[in-house]
Amino acid sequence: MQQPLNVAITGAAGQISYALLFRLIAGELAGNQQSLSLRLLEVPEALPMLEGVVMELADCAAPLLRDVVVTADPEVAFRDADLVFLLGARPRGPGMERRDLLQGNAEIFSRQGRALNEVARRSVKVLVVGNPANTNALIALRNAPELSPRNFSAMTRLDHNRALSLLAAQCGCEVGEVKRIAIWGNHSTSQFPDLSHATVSGRSALALVGDDWFRGSFIPTVQQRGASVIQVRGKSSAASAANAALGQMRSWIGATPGGDWVSMAVLSDGSYGIAEGIVYSFPVTTAGGDFQIARDLPIGDFARERMQASAAELLEERAMVEHLFPV
Ligand code: NDP
Repeated sequence: MQQPLNVAITGAAGQISYALLFRLIAGELAGNQQSLSLRLLEVPEALPMLEGVVMELADCAAPLLRDVVVTADPEVAFRDADLVFLLGARPRGPGMERRDLLQGNAEIFSRQGRALNEVARRSVKVLVVGNPANTNALIALRNAPELSPRNFSAMTRLDHNRALSLLAAQCGCEVGEVKRIAIWGNHSTSQFPDLSHATVSGRSALALVGDDWFRGSFIPTVQQRGASVIQVRGKSSAASAANAALGQMRSWIGATPGGDWVSMAVLSDGSYGIAEGIVYSFPVTTAGGDFQIARDLPIGDFARERMQASAAELLEERAMVEHLFPV
């Protein structure tokens, strides 16, 4: 058995965490030879409930679970952390404006960014799920100047998976036959789920499904899928969000299969004319614990307009919180 991986999870008493933890200790993150040390962070009010989750973790008698630390202190949770899932975020309250939500979360993610800067492993991988995920990731990385921005990403894997599944259903094929789906932009309804480069068994997806279905049905269905789940289930998606968080982290520490990519929101380096300094979802390949934005994709006018619209939303979000960034 190798040295345990230190895995920190915030919002650990929440519903996404509840769907994630038991898959982690079953070996779905780093294989069934890799033991885990879990560090679970919660706000003080949620610690009693988290104790119940810890009892259930113990009751799994999982051979891979080395130990569990429960804390309300980010510096305890993130000490020597290898992998971090930032799930906890302030939920939108009644009458709350987007600015209030962003600023409430800015406090949480600034503090967590500073703690990561101080105590996490320099190789740490931090995946932000708590919404607004892209801007929360930006706040965290700006507060962690001694870590590379490449240590941070925000989750758009759920959008990617939704797009994959929807296209496969439309084509009547297996998801494994679909390649090169891309999610561009913000994890919000401004995101651009793109089929321009997608293939189904090597054939152009757009040629198979047609532009009308792509623009009129596929794009809005993917953009609004979260709201549709809430409408039908009465609660937000948790199991599929946990599945996507697990998938994004697994891709990040592993490697994408040849000829394919995944979508990940990372700090923009100006690729494809997207403004630098926002956390924006790109198609990326991964290998050796690192990611590369897919290069030299041809971008048509329709796609460019959609990609820039989502970038504009992220620039607006940044403008609402940048006075809180350290200089
Ligand atoms: P969930 O576990 O359901 O969701 C956690 C976060 O993930 C939310 O911000 C949610 O955004 C976001 N999210 C991103 N993608 C998705 C998706 N596809 N579907 C659903 N959610 C998504 O929230 P709970 O309320 O069950 O639990 C949150 C926990 O976080 C609570 O226990 C709370 O105490 C804790 N918390 C911890 C903090 C900390 O550790 N410092 C700070 C604040 C809260 P959205 O709200 O838009 O659905």
